[in-house]
Amino acid sequence: MLPLRLLNQALERASYLAAHDLLTGLPNRGLFTDRLRQALALARRDAEPLAVLCLDLDRFKEVNDTLGHAAGDRLLQEVAKRLSAVVRESDTLARLGGDEFAIIQPKARQPEAADALARRLIAALEAPVDLGGDWASVGVSIGIAMVDQSGSADLTQLMRDADLALYQAKEGGRGGYRFFSPEMNRKLLERRALEADLRVALARGDFRLAYQPQVNLESGAVMGAEALLRWERPGVGNMPPDRFISVAEETGLIGPIGTWALQEACREAMTWPDHLTIAVNVSPVQFRQAGLFEAVVSALESSGLAPERLEVEITEGVLLNDTDETLATLRRLRSLGVKIAMDDFGTGYSSLGYLQKFPFDKVKIDRSFVRHLGDDRSAEAIVRAVVGMSHALGVHTIAEGVETAIQADMLRQKGCEEVQGYMYGKPMPAEAFTEMLVRSAETARL
Ligand code: C2E
Ligand code: MG
Ligand code: MG
Repeated sequence: MLPLRLLNQALERASYLAAHDLLTGLPNRGLFTDRLRQALALARRDAEPLAVLCLDLDRFKEVNDTLGHAAGDRLLQEVAKRLSAVVRESDTLARLGGDEFAIIQPKARQPEAADALARRLIAALEAPVDLGGDWASVGVSIGIAMVDQSGSADLTQLMRDADLALYQAKEGGRGGYRFFSPEMNRKLLERRALEADLRVALARGDFRLAYQPQVNLESGAVMGAEALLRWERPGVGNMPPDRFISVAEETGLIGPIGTWALQEACREAMTWPDHLTIAVNVSPVQFRQAGLFEAVVSALESSGLAPERLEVEITEGVLLNDTDETLATLRRLRSLGVKIAMDDFGTGYSSLGYLQKFPFDKVKIDRSFVRHLGDDRSAEAIVRAVVGMSHALGVHTIAEGVETAIQADMLRQKGCEEVQGYMYGKPMPAEAFTEMLVRSAETARL
């Protein structure tokens, strides 16, 4: 028979293994939850505050993907060591899974103590980690929730609050921390409702496209249109794309919505005279998801539209990540004959360098510069530089958001070829755009 001493050791070992994360030796989610339950009970009994901090590494996935899983494991071990050095004896630090960690901080003056701890944790991960030759720099984002003296929060609620705060911390840029607040909660609920409504709208086919004319600045002729998403949200009314595209991007819904827009825009353009083009906006997220190229091909095939008549509008966000793959997709689209336009040029990170890096067919000068033409010298200088540089590279320019004759005149002087803006037509339903085409064809005949 097994001596009792050995049996006891084996049982101890087994219960340790069941409660700890093997890689880092830290308590696992199960043990963390037990401790949090105890801590909450004590906090309630003694009317003491308690803070929960949820941590998520900022660039862990990058390290794992580029340097491999072994390096990822080493990184997690080093991170665990550094975090352990920062927390107190009375705190519980656990690894919840993946690159997620969490801390229970009882018996401390709150929120000051959680605030100070968060700063120390972030500082502890600032220095790069040696992974045996490779150095990796990860940071950490932290969400904090607390039980105040009233001790009302329950365990699930507390973890949900900390997670929400973490989400907000990530959104506010990496390497930061946030406390949960009811305001945050309200925003989250709104966002969830929006996501649910977007799904319904997609399933029911509630989206529409509006078409805004693009006009040749010399002749005044309509050259084509940009397709812009429109959504009448039940109970809310017209929702501008700026208010729902970002949620569609975060949830992946932009994939099917974007595919629908491509199909619909190509189908509509087939009813127009042959020389007119249709511009469709494509989100950076669509480029990162598989199947964008196929979606374009399928939209062209099912509508029968000549590829040369389709223009894909991208923003600099497309060029910011996974450049090789993105460039390959852009080249494949171009080799079909599809045109590529750089949207919102001059904003965000876009630079003249992008014009050299990739041969666009068209550059769209952002509304923010056009708006100041006539009253701001630097806007003028920028427009002149963009038009000059584009021409040198054989790229056409179109100005967005043209509202006044003064702006149009200045753009003409600088050699800009095309314009789009309220002065020439607001985004309008398909029928209205077709009517406009008929009217302008009649004027041309007179
Ligand atoms: P964008 O592609 O830069 O589109 C131009 C925006 O400027 C449109 O806003 C248009 O209505 C507005 N605009 C045009 N002329 C004028 C003007 O003279 N004055 C002013 N003040 N505004 C003008 P909209 O339709 O609200 O769209 C906003 C953004 O949403 C678009 O910016 C685009 O980035 C995005 N978007 C729209 N449709 C789609 C889509 O189908 N897919 C994707 N991924 N994004 C889309
Ligand atoms: Mg656009
Ligand atoms: Mg734009």
